[in-house]
Amino acid sequence: IKRRTVMDRTAVVKVGAAASASVCALFGGVVLAQYIVAKKKRAGKKTRIIEMMPQFEKTTVHMKDHGKVEDKICGLIKGGASKLQIITDFDMTLSKFSVNGKRCPTCHNIIDNCKLVTEECRGKLLALKNKYYPIEIDPQLTMEEKYPFMVEWYFNSHRLLVEQRLERDKLPEVVRESDVALRDGFEQFFDRLHQHNVPVFIFSAGLGDVLEEIMRQAGVYHPNVKVVSNFMEFDENGILKGFKGELIHVYNKHDGALRNTEYFKQLKEYSNIILLGDSLGDLSMADGVTNAENILKIGFLNDKVEERLDKYLDSYDIVLVKDETLEVPNAILQKIL
Ligand code: C5P
Ligand code: MG
Repeated sequence: IKRRTVMDRTAVVKVGAAASASVCALFGGVVLAQYIVAKKKRAGKKTRIIEMMPQFEKTTVHMKDHGKVEDKICGLIKGGASKLQIITDFDMTLSKFSVNGKRCPTCHNIIDNCKLVTEECRGKLLALKNKYYPIEIDPQLTMEEKYPFMVEWYFNSHRLLVEQRLERDKLPEVVRESDVALRDGFEQFFDRLHQHNVPVFIFSAGLGDVLEEIMRQAGVYHPNVKVVSNFMEFDENGILKGFKGELIHVYNKHDGALRNTEYFKQLKEYSNIILLGDSLGDLSMADGVTNAENILKIGFLNDKVEERLDKYLDSYDIVLVKDETLEVPNAILQKIL
């Protein structure tokens, strides 16, 4: 009897062990199955390229249609360096809007504030800016409504500059002494584009001579960069006497773009475009391109942010709000090039 009891107990222990082993196996099996299903799911779900760029997590980045941005960036990556060209604005797009809360100058402001301009003239230029800049960025007015005011602004301010008989040779010093700054990451931006021979079209309603000097002093005026802007005309003594060609202002870039169809024709294989701007007028900078496949539009919204954000989101694929860097464009370029 005693022996039987011992045997029974052994049997009970054995059955118990077997039972717990099978529970363990079952549990393990369930976990394994869950793991496999999860892994399959993960493999099936396309990982978004914009989710792989930490720069897109910054609070400055706004997008209305993430899917569209994703598709365009994928198109740009697929095309690679050989299909890519850049079309960009200059003032407040490549250059900074503000540093530590202090406004940075546009190409025009560099001249407005320089020592070559008399106190009286500076006052007049400032009065023009105070009248017309609010119109330039007015959220209520259409581009058509703003257009004649911009012509007035440029006409009057350029006339004042000519009256000052500015000397061409003084421009490098004027630029050096100014507070102008290019957005953080500009070296990486221009150097990478140069390295991969990507054509860069800088299309500015600023002052071309000043712009070129800024680019030279920054060491990024590489041969792949073409500048279209308002260039000064000097007399035989190097004194400013007027401006060359048709005026480019903030809201007539469409016409300027069409005047440059020759440039864009030469680049007809470059059907993928990254457009950078800070004004709604900049959206027409690529109007001279005939065979665009993908145009990724990146807009810097620097001023009157709340009032203008909706409109910017409607027209730009990516809106960078009060972002003084080129981190997002650089991250995208890094994926493409
Ligand atoms: O390079 P971008 O096209 O942006 O240059 C145009 C800018 O120049 C405008 O945003 C405008 O505010 C500025 N401007 C200026 N003074 C003028 C005319 C234009 O600061 N007399
Ligand atoms: Mg601008």
